[in-house]
Amino acid sequence: MDQNQGPSHAASQDRSRMLARKEEMDKFQLQTSGNLFIKEFMELLARWQPAENIRKQYMEKVLHTVFFFGRLNQRQMRPNEFLDSKTFQRLQEKYPRSFQEYDTHLPSLTPYSILLQFGNEVAGCSTQEEMESFLHGFNSAVEIARRTRAPKLRPTEFTFRAAVVAYSFYREPRKPKNEAGFPLFYGASVSCKGRMEKKIMISILCLRTWHQAVAFAVYHGQDNLAIVFPDGVQCRAFCYSSNGDFIEKPPCVNCKMMYHVDFQPYEGDSRENVPWPYGNCAENESLSKLLQGEPGLQEKVVSTDTSVINNPPQNTYQTIEQEFENNIKPNLRNQLIRLLQHKNFPHNLQFFEP
Ligand SMILES: [Zn+2]
Repeated sequence: MDQNQGPSHAASQDRSRMLARKEEMDKFQLQTSGNLFIKEFMELLARWQPAENIRKQYMEKVLHTVFFFGRLNQRQMRPNEFLDSKTFQRLQEKYPRSFQEYDTHLPSLTPYSILLQFGNEVAGCSTQEEMESFLHGFNSAVEIARRTRAPKLRPTEFTFRAAVVAYSFYREPRKPKNEAGFPLFYGASVSCKGRMEKKIMISILCLRTWHQAVAFAVYHGQDNLAIVFPDGVQCRAFCYSSNGDFIEKPPCVNCKMMYHVDFQPYEGDSRENVPWPYGNCAENESLSKLLQGEPGLQEKVVSTDTSVINNPPQNTYQTIEQEFENNIKPNLRNQLIRLLQHKNFPHNLQFFEP
């Protein structure tokens, strides 16, 4: 019997039809999410009216990162697929670099993290209330636009919303308790879809954006090596619920492993495994910003490395830095180049810098 006519042939035809349908769905979700995110970000800029150079910087970053994810998608997308032709022309004229460099240069942030940065730098949110109200405003604007312009996209299918945000702060022990006196450093979970996309983005973040100690924790996530924060550092995560509230959320098993820090709340998540890769959670970006933003804090961080190969001990902050330079950085570069090779990206890593 001709094998092509047999039941296994029919099954494989079914499989490829299913795969094609899934790819079509993924593309629709990404395309619609990208369109909604760009449009709502333009609204945000119109509302806050930052100086022209700031507006340009934000818009270039947002367009570039959305187009980059279109480029990574299994069904590669071009910038014009995210926008109607009039908007496409107008934006391409104003921000040509994003349209030229999305398939040669890498972004440094996901869309939602750019939004957090905007909330902090332009909208001036400094308290939990202010930041939550800012994010809630953006999330509901996206949701309203989705309902009217893209009802076929389910709310949970919006690719670029971070399901979780977190903030950390450092209150030096013995310093007076002044609620307004210490800044909150907000981070978002890695807001993109697809395991490959997440792996690529987390490698970029570790290499380029995040503090070395966070890159250390993410890189050594599987090796039972953690970084230890001094007393006075607290980290709180919140997930955005369907009715628009931010609900406190305990850390997942990965984060508890990677960071020895005062998580609030600590107990509650009893899973032994989580499906996402190390580095996916909001805690990473938040703790990274804290380390970058609090002078003198990084030197108080140590690792749990107890190997006694040399004297002095292996766990000091200096050894974290050395480990990053000598081992983590070159390995991450190679890993990133390999991952991007699957997507036919150029071998030399270049970053988009508006
Ligand atoms: Zn986590």
